[in-house]
Amino acid sequence: MRNQQLDPSMNVVIIGGGVMGAATASFLAARYGLRATVLERDASYARASSALSVCAIRQQFSTEINIRISQESLLFYRDIGHQLAVGPDRPSIGLVEPGYLYLATEAGARVLAENQALQARCGADVALLSLPELTARFPWLSLEQIALGSLGLSTATSGEGWFDGYSALQAFRQHAIAHGARFVQAEAVDFDTRAGAVQSVITRQGERLAADAVLIAAGAWSSPVAAVLGVDLPIRARKRDVFALQAPGPLPGCPLVIDPSGFWFRPDGDTGQFLCGSPPRGADLDDVPLEQVDHGLFDEWLWPRLAERVPMFDELRVTSSWAGYYEYNTFDQNGLVGRLPGTDNVFVAAGFSGHGLQQAPAIGRGMAELIATGTYASLDLSPLHLERLANHAPLLERNVI
Ligand SMILES: Cc1cc2nc3c(=O)[nH]c(=O)nc-3n(C[C@H](O)[C@H](O)[C@H](O)COP(=O)(O)OP(=O)(O)OC[C@H]3O[C@@H](n4cnc5c(N)ncnc54)[C@H](O)[C@@H]3O)c2cc1C
Repeated sequence: MRNQQLDPSMNVVIIGGGVMGAATASFLAARYGLRATVLERDASYARASSALSVCAIRQQFSTEINIRISQESLLFYRDIGHQLAVGPDRPSIGLVEPGYLYLATEAGARVLAENQALQARCGADVALLSLPELTARFPWLSLEQIALGSLGLSTATSGEGWFDGYSALQAFRQHAIAHGARFVQAEAVDFDTRAGAVQSVITRQGERLAADAVLIAAGAWSSPVAAVLGVDLPIRARKRDVFALQAPGPLPGCPLVIDPSGFWFRPDGDTGQFLCGSPPRGADLDDVPLEQVDHGLFDEWLWPRLAERVPMFDELRVTSSWAGYYEYNTFDQNGLVGRLPGTDNVFVAAGFSGHGLQQAPAIGRGMAELIATGTYASLDLSPLHLERLANHAPLLERNVI
């Protein structure tokens, strides 16, 4: 990748003001002093994934790049009050680190152990737990059909848990604005281009914003934006339902539990509230309206399985539910990060398929480096480059939830 001279007069237009756009704007403005204009069509973020997320962070991935991105992002999020302080205001995102507990049947135990070995090689502290160890640690868990577990531990360099994602988004946004970035409520609909380079971004109102570089960070809606430039990105809006539960009481030491059948649950407070979800029943369709939460998914599929895994869940009630879109990369369910092939000055950070909120600090920092200097200065994000689409070389991540 080539280095380029930093041009302090460079205009960067970012399409999408969710966590990816806001994080990139924050690094561009604060670290490089560049002029970043973030176009966000809905300042209320009513349908943005960043506002509808479950906001968990883990190092239990099966690819080195995802492990390293989340390790570095965790360290940033732990220190967010300092990293994104604006004057005396130190943002707080309520990060807690009870870990992720992956459970595996006999058939899945080998892959779980292989993943743990890779995570250990990358410096992530993840413990493999036998059945007696699982029982001792989580006596409320029923281990029917389970052979092995893996639990992310909270140590100096790694840890897993969850945080308030909307606060993280707002912290990046406020930090970016304090360093000179502009957030404009407008929808990008077209581009002026000359010889493969975008000259300006055109909004629905017909305004033209001059651009030396453009970042597409439009989440689940990134494909329509890239399509205007003639590039077909394999990113689709795939609905995921989340159910908030009130159980009879808390489960001591409860991490975010991933069941081998595909569902997950985690505490949401310490008096017996939980969140849970799973992939949809049947076909995973594009653009299902967010209003259509599948309540049958909970009643007929999730609840029986939850109660099998944790007998206390036999008695619970759903207190609320919502749905959000995964910006789902149908090619290989990983972020598409880097230059948009076929263009000179257009970049993409999208397609994170359910693990974008936790990756935002490292991705935002890397995008700012790439846009400002032409290369990655800290963590090399090139395994996520978009050329893997044309090369038919998927980056296969086994741990997509
Ligand atoms: C139910 C659910 C659970 C999740 N759980 C987790 C989790 O536990 N951990 C995790 O790391 N991630 C999780 N995710 C994924 C995570 O939330 C996303 O990866 C992340 O928020 C993506 O951020 P983004 O900025 O790319 O997209 P968004 O937050 O969707 O932001 C994109 C923005 O672009 C705007 N936009 C679109 N088109 C245009 C245009 N043409 N012009 C101007 N603006 C435009 C939109 O209005 C939107 O605000 C979850 C997601 C969902 C839905």
